[in-house]
Amino acid sequence: MLNKDLLFNTIEKFDISLDELSYERLDKYAEMLVETNKSFNLTAITEPDDVTLKHFADCLVLFKFVDIPKSSKVIDVGTGAGFPGLVLLLARPDLKMTFLDSTKKKLGFIEQVLNETGVNAEILHARAEEAGKNAEFREKFDFATARAVANLTNLSEYCLPFVKVGGKFISMKSASADEEINDAKKAVSILGGKIVENNLFDLVENTPRRILILKKISQTPTKYPRPSAKIAKSPIK
Ligand code: SAM
Repeated sequence: MLNKDLLFNTIEKFDISLDELSYERLDKYAEMLVETNKSFNLTAITEPDDVTLKHFADCLVLFKFVDIPKSSKVIDVGTGAGFPGLVLLLARPDLKMTFLDSTKKKLGFIEQVLNETGVNAEILHARAEEAGKNAEFREKFDFATARAVANLTNLSEYCLPFVKVGGKFISMKSASADEEINDAKKAVSILGGKIVENNLFDLVENTPRRILILKKISQTPTKYPRPSAKIAKSPIK
């Protein structure tokens, strides 16, 4: 199902290589994604080359921009059908990954892929702004990741509370997100973070992507994250 050559050639340009077992796990995931998608909407992307590039290579290139040490604790916030978290985990099963989403059915799909591929992870069915208040999850992760979940202001309120001081929040954003990033600077700072890298690059020709790296430099004040309605109504300005 995956176009292995396309994946290999794309990630090789970013100095990323995978072992054969990782390819097999990712291939199983791609097959299950497209199959499950026939009865339950997980993704609009279903052509093998598109799945390979826009889901798998798109997530794997994250390894080029962030060094994630062995056994790091990672939370993928708003993971949906597993992007980027499940791609990262199937390539690096040493990671201690938590998949968080408010939609139970999507997490059920992730659980099936984990069972089929024999990889372990934690599944957390919750809203980010509720789990971020819980001492079990608050400031317990080395890394938080997110792709296509919310604007950076609100996303930072969802994600930064999970990250330990010294850890990082990796936000995959579109190349056209300059204004959104500028607007979020105050919120990032209030929440204890700092944008330390803004990586703009072409995934393949004419396919611009952005990976933002925020460092957690101080604890998030206890009043954050606020309840969902408050976040929606009054974003931090
Ligand atoms: N990250 C995946 C990707 O890139 O394909 C999914 C993106 S999808 C557009 C957004 C996902 O975020 C949905 O699965 C939704 O349920 C989840 N989500 C949005 N807001 C959330 C919140 N506050 N807490 C938990 N999950 C949330």
